[in-house]
Amino acid sequence: MSGRKQYRVLLIDLDGVVWVGDHVLWENVEWLRRVYRKHIEVFYVTNNSTMTRSEYAEKLTRILGETISSASIVTSGYAAGRYIREEYGRALVYVIGEEGLVQELVREGHTIANIAEPHRCQADILVVGLDRHVTYQKLLGAHIVLTKCRADFIATNTDNALPSQDYTAPGAGAIIAFLERSSGRKPDIILGKPSPFMYKLVMREYNVSKRDILVIGDRCDTDIKAAEKLGVDSVLVKTGISAMLRQKCHPTYTVNTLRDLGDLLSF
Ligand SMILES: [Mg+2]
Repeated sequence: MSGRKQYRVLLIDLDGVVWVGDHVLWENVEWLRRVYRKHIEVFYVTNNSTMTRSEYAEKLTRILGETISSASIVTSGYAAGRYIREEYGRALVYVIGEEGLVQELVREGHTIANIAEPHRCQADILVVGLDRHVTYQKLLGAHIVLTKCRADFIATNTDNALPSQDYTAPGAGAIIAFLERSSGRKPDIILGKPSPFMYKLVMREYNVSKRDILVIGDRCDTDIKAAEKLGVDSVLVKTGISAMLRQKCHPTYTVNTLRDLGDLLSF
């Protein structure tokens, strides 16, 4: 590599970069702590909608020993809330997803429709994210909303699986695949990575230009793909799922842990 590049803004994934399941990836955290001593803006951008931005901020503050504000967190749940507000205004929304998604939607001014009464077709929008308590009843509700009510179908993300310590677990994509199969419909929009929507939210809100950005993630099919679509540099770190799924891609840099970036970047 010739010359070192200066990046002003890091867009960092969480699952597989800062932690895997309940296990903190200290070798990556150690490097992140060093980054906070430089003049670099750090944003955490995650497809995982199960927690709110403020819950992620609290968790990161505990792990990093730095005060992390929820303004520096973008989840696919927050992205869904923002997208709906921009495209539909304040809306009534059916949701398959956990509290993190529900709360972000409510924070953006939306109201949650009762998915147990889908046949009433109260709402025009269905949002689907990872829901580890999903039941046939909820899926039936979503199916009816898609087929009978013809609601717009918004997916937080389509990750097939999530990394856990020594296995993977089904992701939001698996729930969406269920509904695609039953309803014969595909999501009208997918907000999570590999869509660069969340990266663009940060760029818009903080007036960031592409050449200043470095994306860091563990997945070829989401983080690195989204960076490619946006046209920004990226780092694939092998502490997460890419090794488990044997994914191949062409990031700007590939490292075993973020510690290895110390030699590559002039931080
Ligand atoms: Mg990840």
